[in-house]
Amino acid sequence: MTTTYPNTQLLINNLWVDAADGKSLDVLNPATGKVIGKVAHASRVDLDRALQAAQKGFEVWRDTSVQERAAIMRRAAGLLRERADAIGRILTQEQGKPFIEAKGEALASADIIEWFADEGRRVYGRIVPGRNLNAQQLVIKEPVGPVAAFTPWNFPINQVVRKLGAALATGCSFLCKAPEETPASPAALMQTFVDAGIPPGVIGLVFGNPAEISEYLIPHPIIRKVTFTGSTPVGKQLAALAGLHMKRVTMELGGHAPVIIAEDADVQLAVKASGAAKFRNAGQVCISPTRFLVHNSIRQEFSKALIAHAQSLKLGDGLTEGTTIGPLANARRLAAMAKIIEDAQAKGATLATGGARVGDDGNFFAPTVLTDVPLTASVFNDEPFGPIAAVRGFDSLDDAITEANRLPYGLSAYAFTRSFKNVQLLTRRVEAGMLWINQPATPSAELPFGGIKDSGYGSEGGPEALEAYLNTKAVSVVGV
Ligand code: NAD
Repeated sequence: MTTTYPNTQLLINNLWVDAADGKSLDVLNPATGKVIGKVAHASRVDLDRALQAAQKGFEVWRDTSVQERAAIMRRAAGLLRERADAIGRILTQEQGKPFIEAKGEALASADIIEWFADEGRRVYGRIVPGRNLNAQQLVIKEPVGPVAAFTPWNFPINQVVRKLGAALATGCSFLCKAPEETPASPAALMQTFVDAGIPPGVIGLVFGNPAEISEYLIPHPIIRKVTFTGSTPVGKQLAALAGLHMKRVTMELGGHAPVIIAEDADVQLAVKASGAAKFRNAGQVCISPTRFLVHNSIRQEFSKALIAHAQSLKLGDGLTEGTTIGPLANARRLAAMAKIIEDAQAKGATLATGGARVGDDGNFFAPTVLTDVPLTASVFNDEPFGPIAAVRGFDSLDDAITEANRLPYGLSAYAFTRSFKNVQLLTRRVEAGMLWINQPATPSAELPFGGIKDSGYGSEGGPEALEAYLNTKAVSVVGV
């Protein structure tokens, strides 16, 4: 499969422009390590222009009817679907994931945009009976204002869409700093909105130095809402800055998902569902299953099948037919994987399969299973964000739940059991924003998506996602 890769500019006022000072960064293909293009690097001058555009865009968009907003969003979703093949190829080249996953990300994003378009039509206020019979009390919902969004490289389109969908549906303008490593697919997404007729300034896209941009945008008086997806340490910094300037915040941060496989689980189902979820996008997923907690009576059987699954995966360039797992998105992840494995082995874990970089070009890392992993190993404490499954046994479900809740993270959790009693116990006791039982994660636009504890706050799915972009205003009128 051959394809070209575009350079990416900044999107300001519906126009694609170079950085004012002409600065740009290289974009690498993680499958080859070679430079494939360039992305414009914004300076203060560009950010000021983008902010002014976002303010003007907000003034137009908040006064655009919800029907017209929904129509534009639906047109953009249609264009995204039509272009999914081409956009998928761009995404694979800059991020590494297999083409089928990349195209699937574009298609799923179209679905999310449509859901938000429809849900935006159902943002209602209410009438509250007054104490004074001559009074009318209204509760109305208003868009919070221009939004600054910071999105990561693991799902370059989907991570934008979950924020953008909610922002546009509620009447906010949206200024996004997307990842410098994977800029062209979010740019192609934004182009669908421009082509769908969104007014100038309603959406904007910038790239540059992430810390410099967030430090400038978050305190800026034009910005009224901040939304970030990324690591917990960076999220805490940005939330603190937003707090200092009293900005509304949604934080979708790291996770360390436990997978509890109970004594009565369907082992084959557990391997199939959690194995596929573990190695999807080479494990670079915030809801990736990570700590596999398996009842000791079935631990050997489960581990053997998970190892066989890892060995059956076909590692390669995402554009090569038949590839089921691509390279890691950047060289930082390669170094992180090596460190995690070295630490686990030093602490007594068994390396059952994988465990090393593959080849000298690109960021390929073998799908890895570690067994008998001690709780002290870093892989059982820090988010691995890579293709490493760590397995250990347990004797009682209570112990497994205690272990599941031990870490400060609380994003996603998984469980496999045939017992309703276990389901009830797990549902009540597991500390997570999302719990998937007897299945892989199937996040959809209509389901809340978000974490608790150090995994952040706010939701990027369901009606809660829109609520995060709305202010509530009470209006009381007395007839005279
Ligand atoms: P990182 O923490 O440096 O960056 C994570 C993301 O945040 C990147 O997109 C980056 O551009 C952005 N970022 C970093 N500093 C920022 C700042 N000061 N202001 C605004 N944005 C900033 O780490 P990384 O090496 O890119 O990724 C590794 C870790 O990030 C992973 O271990 C994982 O925990 C986390 N991560 C999480 C998600 C997710 O979906 N929750 C996605 C990507 C990365």
